[in-house]
Amino acid sequence: MRLKFSASEQRFRDEVRDFFEREYPSDIKHKVLTGQSLSKSDYQRSDGALAKKGWSAPLWPAEYGGTGWDLSQCYIFDQEFERAGALYPNPSGLIYLGPVIYTYGTAVQQQRWLPGILDGSTQWCQGYSEPNSGSDLASLCCSAILDGDEYIVDGEKIWTSSAQLADWIFCLVRTDSKGPKQQGISFLCIDLRTPGVTVNPIYSIDGKHHLNQVLFDRARVPLENRIGEEGQGWMYSTFLLGNERVSYAHIGSKKRDLKFLKEIALNTPGPDGSLYQDPSYAAKFARADINIRVLEYTTLRLLSDSRNSGEMGQEAAIIKILATEIAQQISTLSLEIMGHDILPLSPDWVGESWFEPAGIASQAPAATSKYLTDRSQSIYGGTNEIQRNIIAKRILGM
Ligand SMILES: Cc1cc2nc3c(=O)[nH]c(=O)nc-3n(C[C@H](O)[C@H](O)[C@H](O)COP(=O)(O)OP(=O)(O)OC[C@H]3O[C@@H](n4cnc5c(N)ncnc54)[C@H](O)[C@@H]3O)c2cc1C
Repeated sequence: MRLKFSASEQRFRDEVRDFFEREYPSDIKHKVLTGQSLSKSDYQRSDGALAKKGWSAPLWPAEYGGTGWDLSQCYIFDQEFERAGALYPNPSGLIYLGPVIYTYGTAVQQQRWLPGILDGSTQWCQGYSEPNSGSDLASLCCSAILDGDEYIVDGEKIWTSSAQLADWIFCLVRTDSKGPKQQGISFLCIDLRTPGVTVNPIYSIDGKHHLNQVLFDRARVPLENRIGEEGQGWMYSTFLLGNERVSYAHIGSKKRDLKFLKEIALNTPGPDGSLYQDPSYAAKFARADINIRVLEYTTLRLLSDSRNSGEMGQEAAIIKILATEIAQQISTLSLEIMGHDILPLSPDWVGESWFEPAGIASQAPAATSKYLTDRSQSIYGGTNEIQRNIIAKRILGM
């Protein structure tokens, strides 16, 4: 295995680093690094800056607006992106839906929806879960009955991330209740401005508004908004979930957060020198560092395999578990290290003047909020218990 970058790869890294230093909006980086809430316009400006450069979709094929980069370039880009504190795009469009559209959508759907995903002008959200259908997703009830050339959609989606910022939602809907439950599901794209669609906020434990309930009351949706064949939605959703689970890796930001914590620990007095030198903290740092490397090499291996097969496969479940557990490990460590400085729940609620003169690290006010947010990582995208079931059944054949 070659672990060193070539001269051309280093030049590419410098070019990417330079872009994020000079051309990418600095106010957005500041918001990301200090854990502040992001607005729809932040997402659109961030996506727009990347699109202007032609860099918004590193993993998409070049013919659909991707970069055409090889795996090393994608990897370098990802590392630099998160190192700089750039805003990770709303994944629902770019990571989840885009590949479904260019793989299974018609040419008309590709022309209609891919450009808005690439430049961020159309924001999407994901309508899979329902009040009684989470882990057992195939039991979903939200119905879509064909009436001429429109579906009439009735039902409820829940825990819909960022629906308050989105223009469109892609949904799994039940078009047939007879036969095996997976076979009666279809994949429908719905404009959130459609009469009969209501988005209600759900505030979460971190004090922020990420989540929503989306209600459909006889919402009429054109037949042309269905992706692929009627009744085949389960297959498209499984393809999508593979990409979703790998996208949780966020290796660059984990490295950045751990490096930042290390600096704080080095500057915090401990029983024998700095807190970083305390054996119990040193062991926690070493464990986190090793886990990030395991995640990194496993992710690269999967991405490399997927280049040949065109999809992620069941091993994405391994990334989902590793990535989410490490994120929780790091945000727990940050609470332990920053102690009472982390007490404010969110930096949105304290002025910058609160922490700067006191010598408190700029990320500290966001640490509690992040710790609480990260608890949900082992739930969304399919819980970690379900991922373990997938590994046991589909990979190990147990
Ligand atoms: C922050 C956040 C964001 C989300 N965003 C979205 C979104 O944008 N779009 C969307 O569609 N959904 C979203 N979800 C929903 C998420 O996908 C579901 O919460 C998840 O799939 C679990 O479903 P559930 O909440 O119904 O829990 P349940 O399925 O009721 O599970 C409850 C508990 O039982 C365990 N369990 C269930 N079945 C099994 C089994 N067979 N074996 C072992 N253990 C089992 C689970 O692991 C879990 O611990 C989000 C959730 C969160 C928390």
